[in-house]
Amino acid sequence: MALGVGTVATELRSTFAGGKTRTIEWRVSQLKALLTISNNHQKDIVEALRADLNKPEHEAFVHEIAGVISSCKLALKELRRWMKPEKVKTTMTTHPSSAEIVSEPLGVILVISTWNYPFLLSLDPVIGAIAAGNAVLLKPSEVAPATSSLLSKLLGQYMDTSAVKVVEGGVPETTALLEQRWDKMFYTGNSKVGRIILAAAAKHLTPVVLELGGKCPLVVDSNTNLEVTARRIIGGKWGCNSGQTCVSPDYVITTKAFASKLVDAISSELEKFYGKDPLQSNDMSSIINSHHFERLTKLLDDDKVSGKIVIGGQRDKANLKIAPTVVLDVPEDSLIMNEEIFGPLLPIVTVNEIEDSIRVINAKEKALAAYLFTNDKKLKEEFIRSVSAGGMSINETTLHLAERTLPFGGVGESGMGSYHGKFSFDTFSHKKSVLIRGFSGDIAARYPPYTHEKLNFLKAMLSGNIFRILRALIGW
Ligand code: NAD
Repeated sequence: MALGVGTVATELRSTFAGGKTRTIEWRVSQLKALLTISNNHQKDIVEALRADLNKPEHEAFVHEIAGVISSCKLALKELRRWMKPEKVKTTMTTHPSSAEIVSEPLGVILVISTWNYPFLLSLDPVIGAIAAGNAVLLKPSEVAPATSSLLSKLLGQYMDTSAVKVVEGGVPETTALLEQRWDKMFYTGNSKVGRIILAAAAKHLTPVVLELGGKCPLVVDSNTNLEVTARRIIGGKWGCNSGQTCVSPDYVITTKAFASKLVDAISSELEKFYGKDPLQSNDMSSIINSHHFERLTKLLDDDKVSGKIVIGGQRDKANLKIAPTVVLDVPEDSLIMNEEIFGPLLPIVTVNEIEDSIRVINAKEKALAAYLFTNDKKLKEEFIRSVSAGGMSINETTLHLAERTLPFGGVGESGMGSYHGKFSFDTFSHKKSVLIRGFSGDIAARYPPYTHEKLNFLKAMLSGNIFRILRALIGW
């Protein structure tokens, strides 16, 4: 495979150079093909996601298939408008002139994807790259092999394979791909590999988008609707792929006085959703593999944590299942408070005053998402102003990423660049500045021989003061 990677990249480059991917007809045909895949192969997609993650059909459809469909539909609806050059005003400096910003495709895009939403997170960036008129190579995650193989099969069957290709594989294949020159790389995954991608990009000055993760904080004020809060925490944590989601709440902060009420509310709603024995529920994904199962149980078996379990803690190694688990007041230096959890474990940290939560959050790296539940307007404003994160939802979890009018991406340790909706189109386009002039207005003052009068005149022009300009003209 490593040998073939260069050939694949060369083929894509030659297709792009041929110009067909730039046409609106080609872009539309490929977006429609992705729509056909998502509409006509739902059963295959659900089966692949079940094989990889034991993902419930409900989540497979709502979180993955529907996301691809809505991205395709939005791009198909808006494409003409997005592609139109944007006219901008010009100033005295270039008068008389007109100007526009032209979106041009970058060339050949490499998309390296991850395993937790292997259908959505593979295709969503591909949709943006195609909409912007690029050729694309997709490398799905080897950690979700059934979905990777299905993507390879379906894209091979429905797409223009001279311009959209899939290379399956793991580290050796990705390493070989990273040696090639790309016009943009779009990586979703952990920050350790993110650094490998960035280092490889430096060699060819390739721009990158890094969609990474981190520890997403969630703050619960006592002035809240407790029942709705508990349900939405569960929805964003255990109802999102058993917490194996980049924007799932990683830890909760609440006040010492309110913590037990919150634990009780979460416990009671959890039982309504998943029954008395959640390990038997079919409504929760499994842990992706035994490596991640061991990683998660190690976080729980840490001496600093094991005595602090207030909900759950049960596990089923054979079926790679861990019950929804809440731990209360674990020490700051425990493993669970220092690693991204990415699974069904939720620590609750307590503070004296809810305002202290901002200090706790800001002491850590910038997260991909941050959440606050409160009815307090002042606290809401303070949180939005003081907490830096890729994005946030107030009185909700994870839902900001479903809003296609908002950019989705990280900041600092949680990544760089963003996508979704028009932001995807922009991410995979170069914004070319175009200034158009006629042959009039060719003022002598800009050309040598330089004189004091010419300089005075140019300074007057820049000042924009009409009297100064007239005086300079008279003096010239
Ligand atoms: P992963 O193991 O599937 O790795 C991601 C990709 O990197 C894969 O395609 C893999 O082949 C490649 N890769 C792995 N090791 C490599 C290496 N040494 N060199 C080159 N390529 C390599 O996924 P993961 O990293 O376990 O994903 C989980 C992480 O992704 C979490 O941190 C999560 O928060 C983050 N994530 C972020 C987003 C987002 O949109 N920001 C979405 C999902 C997951």
